[in-house]
Amino acid sequence: MSESFPESLCRRCTFVRLVKAARTEFLMCTEPTLPKYGPQPVRACRRFVPASPA
Ligand code: SF4
Repeated sequence: MSESFPESLCRRCTFVRLVKAARTEFLMCTEPTLPKYGPQPVRACRRFVPASPA
């Protein structure tokens, strides 16, 4: 399975959760004021918070 929207800002954000399905993966936003599944790829977001390194 290939990575969905590798260029999306969400992939570097603390609010994202990766939701795996059989053949794809969804980027779910857990920031409470934003839609869970907004249009991708996100290139700019006023709620972006960099995720801490694992
Ligand atoms: S806050 Fe913005 S950048 Fe972060 S996961 Fe949600 S939509 Fe993506």
